[in-house]
Amino acid sequence: MATATSIVLTVVTLPGAAQASAGAIIDPDQQYASFLAEKKTDGSWAGSADPGAKAKAPATDLAAYPKLTDKQMDAMRAATAKAEPADAEAVTVQSVQVTSEGTSVTTYDPAPGFTPDQLAAKLRAQGKASVRVVKSASTGGVSTKAASDCSYGNARTWSCPVSFWRNQGWEDPYVRFNDHSGASWPVSSVVPKWNTVQNIDSEYRWNSCPAVSGSRCIDVFSGNYGAGWTGRTTLYYASGSYGAFSNSGAMVQLNDYYDSAAIGGTRNNTTTHELGHALGLGHNLYSGDVMYYAANKREDLGGQNPVMLASIYSITR
Ligand SMILES: [Zn+2]
Repeated sequence: MATATSIVLTVVTLPGAAQASAGAIIDPDQQYASFLAEKKTDGSWAGSADPGAKAKAPATDLAAYPKLTDKQMDAMRAATAKAEPADAEAVTVQSVQVTSEGTSVTTYDPAPGFTPDQLAAKLRAQGKASVRVVKSASTGGVSTKAASDCSYGNARTWSCPVSFWRNQGWEDPYVRFNDHSGASWPVSSVVPKWNTVQNIDSEYRWNSCPAVSGSRCIDVFSGNYGAGWTGRTTLYYASGSYGAFSNSGAMVQLNDYYDSAAIGGTRNNTTTHELGHALGLGHNLYSGDVMYYAANKREDLGGQNPVMLASIYSITR
C-alpha cells in the first residue's frame, strides 16, 4: 500500500501538472457553444471568468500607446535583422472544420512536453476535426520561399497569399478583443501593445462588444482545457479558403491548465502570441521571437512582427 501511494504522489506532482485552482477540465468547443447559446446581444456572457482588477482599470488610454513611428519601425528592422538564427521550417498544429459560418481553422500551440505530432494525436483522439501538422515548407503552409508580401525577415503571415481583416469603411481595420478570460491573463495590457502597430486598430473590451458598423469582435476566453496546449486561436473564412477573415467566430482560448512556471514562460508571452495569430500573424522561424512556433521567452511584440502586420494592412481591402 505504501509503495502504491508513493507512485501516485509522484505522478500527480510532475512539472506541468494541473493547478488546483484551474477547476474541472472543459472542452474549448463546448465552452464556445455555451457562449453562443447564452451571450447577450451586446456580446456579454454570464459565463465569463472573474477578471479581477483588469476589468476595473483596462488600458483603454490609447494615447499612452501611440502608433509606432516610421523611425521606430526602422529601428526595429535594424535591431532584429542582424544575424538572427532561423529554423529551416516552422511547425503548426491545426484543426480545420467546415461549419455554417464557413471554414474554421484553429491553431493549437503545443505545451512543453508535447511535440506537434504528439499534440495532434491527442487532438485526434479527442475527436477534433481534420487535425494536421503543417510544416512551413509543405503545401498549405507558408513557404520559406514565399513572396515578399508573406514574410519579413523571420516573421510570417498566417497564410500565403495573406489572410486579413477587411477595412469595412474604416481607415484601418478595427478589431475589438472582447475579453472573458480570468484575472491572470493580461489581455488588457497586451491589446494596447498590438494597437501600436500601424495600419490596424485593436481595442480592449471586458465582456461587452456591442455592434459597431464595420468593426468586429474577437472573443477571448480562458479555462482549464487539460494538458497538451497553452493557447489556441480560431479564425473563420467565409469563402471556404484563405483570404478575408469572416466577422463571425474568431476567438482566442487561453489554457488555465498551465501556469507560468509550467510553461517556462509567462502568461503575457502566451497572450501576446495568440493575439498575434488573431491579427493575422503566423509562426516565426526565430526562437527569440514571440511568434516562434515553440515555447519562447519573448515578452514584447517582437521586432519583425509589427513590420509584417503593418505591411499586411498597408492597403485597403
Ligand atoms: Zn502559435
